[in-house]
Amino acid sequence: MSENKSEKMSVANARKAEAIGREVLLQGWVRTRRDSKAGFSFIELNDGSSMGGIQIIADKDLENYESEIKRLTAGCSISVVGLVKESPGKGQATEVQAKSVTLHGTADSETYPLQKKRHSFEFLRTIAHLRPRTNSFGAVARVRNCACRSIHNFFQEEGFLYVHTPIITASDCEGAGEMFQVTTLDLNEVPKVPDTGTVDFSKDFFDRPSYLTVSGQLEGEIYASALGKVYTFGPTFRAENSNTSRHLAEFWMVEPEAAFFDLYDNMDLAERFLKRIFRDAMEQCHEDMEFFNLRIDKTILETLTKIVDSEFVRLPYTEAVEILTGSGRQFEFPVTWGCDLQAEHERFLTEEHFKCPVILYDYPRTIKPFYMRVNDDEKTVRAMDVLVPKVGEIIGGSQREERLDILKSRMAEQNLDTENYWWYIDLRRYGSVPHSGFGLGLERAVQFMTGMTNIRDVIPFPRTPGSADF
Ligand code: ATP
Ligand code: MN
Repeated sequence: MSENKSEKMSVANARKAEAIGREVLLQGWVRTRRDSKAGFSFIELNDGSSMGGIQIIADKDLENYESEIKRLTAGCSISVVGLVKESPGKGQATEVQAKSVTLHGTADSETYPLQKKRHSFEFLRTIAHLRPRTNSFGAVARVRNCACRSIHNFFQEEGFLYVHTPIITASDCEGAGEMFQVTTLDLNEVPKVPDTGTVDFSKDFFDRPSYLTVSGQLEGEIYASALGKVYTFGPTFRAENSNTSRHLAEFWMVEPEAAFFDLYDNMDLAERFLKRIFRDAMEQCHEDMEFFNLRIDKTILETLTKIVDSEFVRLPYTEAVEILTGSGRQFEFPVTWGCDLQAEHERFLTEEHFKCPVILYDYPRTIKPFYMRVNDDEKTVRAMDVLVPKVGEIIGGSQREERLDILKSRMAEQNLDTENYWWYIDLRRYGSVPHSGFGLGLERAVQFMTGMTNIRDVIPFPRTPGSADF
């Protein structure tokens, strides 16, 4: 390339009319190439900056036309220096007349798996190192990025402080026993306590059993009890052996926690929050969202637009049970008051009955964790789940139990050792306040926004039972 450098530009910017007349350097990967009889080639170049690529016109008088340009295939990496011109073609504002095309890496079309045809998502999972080069996965990556930006923007603008809660922890927030253990013990020669024959964790790295976190909530409560409004956003691990299209063993969770916040404040926050990420995706990832609407789910834009402009339904669990039992519907799992709602029940409510997001709240105390605030009826707790069509539960949260004596009795009820939670209990002994929070699974949100049916396709490298490739 010449000394007098051309302006490096992304394909996304070169596609805009403002770029017309500029000499630019574009770098990316060939999607397609076709040759005209008149002796030039059209190359569609994509660099990941946008869904659409840009058309490059390469004339036969370029010095490497026969040797390289005419041999370009899908997946080859190239640099192009050229002039951005107004495109005579429909559906694109610009095209680029190449002054030079430099080949960096070839991609043998005999073996390169991504040829110009539609591949199934199942197949693409087996080539997770190449799938980001497809339209679908490029779009998912950009929408996911946009959601993360919105998450931070939203909470920062609302005055929440970003705190980092630990990934390795000794406490089990959910008490559900779905934790991955972290150890440096040699599993072939596990040290045992002589008398009892149990594992001697004093020989382990942390001197005690430790795990990957299932939630940053308890630590979030510590910071909320000092700084008011905080949120964590990080990886979360659950060893749940459920091979569903909505569960991952490693996922990203956003968890706001706020002091002087009751369940209704929490609902308002959740509703504003979801609307904000949906609206931002439609505004900032317009082309990608159009793609999902065309190829993945023909109703997605309409659904999201409707949600942004309307109010979520708020429904106590008890009324939900009445709706479900009165629906005349045969569910696989029959509904009675006190049972945990299954995905089929949640989906009935949000997809069929209300046809919009539903915030269910005040669940039976027996099916919810110890930290949720007990209501005056003593039968229910201040829990809330936000349900959306197709995905089901997208957010789970609650007002937390701030009363020391009731918290302790709830822990006893659930056979939890209060000694392990001494610091959590301390928060109720010193300056306890009403507080609330929730968790949003990032992948569930991206799933919902894109219409992608399998959660494995909205995270770059999915971890599920029996699978940790790439
Ligand atoms: P579910 O009933 O769907 O398993 P949960 O009740 O275990 O969810 P919470 O413990 O309330 O969920 O977690 C908060 C949020 O984290 C959920 O609303 C969901 O968005 C997300 N989430 C929970 N488990 C997973 C998982 N295994 N994979 C991806 N996201 C998850
Ligand atoms: Mn779960």
